[in-house]
Amino acid sequence: MPGLHNTLAYERTFAMVKPDGVMRGLTGEIIRRFEQRGLKIIALKMVQPTLEMVDEHYPKAESWIDRLGEKTLATFGDYKLDPKEHLGSDDKHELGQQVRDWLMEYMTMGPVVCMVIEGVHACDMVRKLVGDTRPLMAAPGTIRGDFSVDAATAANTNKRSLFNLIHASENAEEAAHEIDHWFSPEDIHGYYRTDDSIAYGDRRHEDFTQTKL
Ligand code: ADP
Repeated sequence: MPGLHNTLAYERTFAMVKPDGVMRGLTGEIIRRFEQRGLKIIALKMVQPTLEMVDEHYPKAESWIDRLGEKTLATFGDYKLDPKEHLGSDDKHELGQQVRDWLMEYMTMGPVVCMVIEGVHACDMVRKLVGDTRPLMAAPGTIRGDFSVDAATAANTNKRSLFNLIHASENAEEAAHEIDHWFSPEDIHGYYRTDDSIAYGDRRHEDFTQTKL
């Protein structure tokens, strides 16, 4: 039987309880949801991010910035509101750049809790538990859908980012960059969880200190 770490689809992801999540005392609740689903927390720390740390964390690619602007345009469209009238622009790049600047302010408002999470299809699984970027659209049962109700319309007209409690990497490539950005290799701890054996066959004698895939 191959080791769990060599199993196809067993991967790592990065998640971060954002300043609003920490300030609302939701850190424990968020971690509980990941652990309860069978995902393993293999690194954990609280950090007060600087602007430089956040700037390096989020992509600077034009396509990513445009996507932020598109989320604003989609929400304004859904509610038949004119972004030009309320925000002074309907250009996705201009709006996206503005949102990225607000995001910098939001993410430095207070400490965050960073974690590395391991498990079967961990990136997709964590994103599913987190829910839609826009809390208004997030399904009940997800972290964002159960604890927040913010919308781009409300946030942008108040010249701020969406407050949505948590960040989670979108894919394995993004996760690798973010884990490397927030953690050193010695901060990451593989270990045996008793339910590993029940979920994936007997794993009691496996070496879980080998955290690298
Ligand atoms: P996610 O965090 O779900 O991966 P994105 O990567 O698209 O979402 O956006 C990064 C963060 O920027 C979001 O979590 C949210 O805090 C903020 N954000 C995204 N779109 C908007 C928007 N249209 N208006 C305000 N803030 C936004």
